[in-house]
Amino acid sequence: MALLQGPEAIAGRLARAAANARAAMLPILDVALPPLCPACRDVHAQPGGVCAGCWSKLSFISPPYCERLGVPFVYDPGPGILSMEAIANPPAYGRARAAVRYDDVARALVHAFKFSDRLDLAPMIGGWMLRAGRQLLAEAAAVVPVPLHWRRLWARRFNQSATLAGVIAEASGLPLLPDALQRTRATPHQVGLSRSERATNVQGAFRVSPDGKPHIHGKRLVLVDDVLTSGATVDHCSRALLRAGATNVDVLVFARVVDAARAPI
Ligand SMILES: [Zn+2]
Repeated sequence: MALLQGPEAIAGRLARAAANARAAMLPILDVALPPLCPACRDVHAQPGGVCAGCWSKLSFISPPYCERLGVPFVYDPGPGILSMEAIANPPAYGRARAAVRYDDVARALVHAFKFSDRLDLAPMIGGWMLRAGRQLLAEAAAVVPVPLHWRRLWARRFNQSATLAGVIAEASGLPLLPDALQRTRATPHQVGLSRSERATNVQGAFRVSPDGKPHIHGKRLVLVDDVLTSGATVDHCSRALLRAGATNVDVLVFARVVDAARAPI
């Protein structure tokens, strides 16, 4: 008779029943937990988005800006004008573009994305970057993320720049070259370092992998990172890519520091 069952069969049935109950509960739990704004932890946000208050506090960067560095101008000096900074200290990369200024909301979003595993933010952040980098992407042949050192990648489980680069590559129909650039040593965090210390910190820390070389040779590339502070990291990555034969490297980031003291003109 079916009623005569051993303890193993009963345990198996109980386990299946528990699994079914958990599966049935999941949609209820999804509805019961309202999405939180990743920047302010308020409950009014759409899933994968920010609340209206945080949205209004984000400073999206739009023209007029320095054609080279993408740093916003206070007034419009006319098309193609470069900032004093770009003339005095030209970077290795061609042009840099950022979606937003690195202010409080942008910082909170980057932290949630990077350190709290909020990978669901990637489409929103990547979408803003796509808009900011439309021209660079239209002229590029491939997208390259700023690499993490393997030890940091292991600790954090994902490379935030590679995740954003993936969203951008897919949406723009460009190939993604996630392993073209390598970080040859784990550089200390840039936080709290001066501009010259940052440059020294990342010097010689990047190289193009032997396998990556044929993919970047003769190509125009867009290098993707989450935040641009002094520009030392993207500058050294660009040097490594250009040394390996890339014809041009443009830089696309989510947020950049806009220092009032460095405001052009
Ligand atoms: Zn918010």
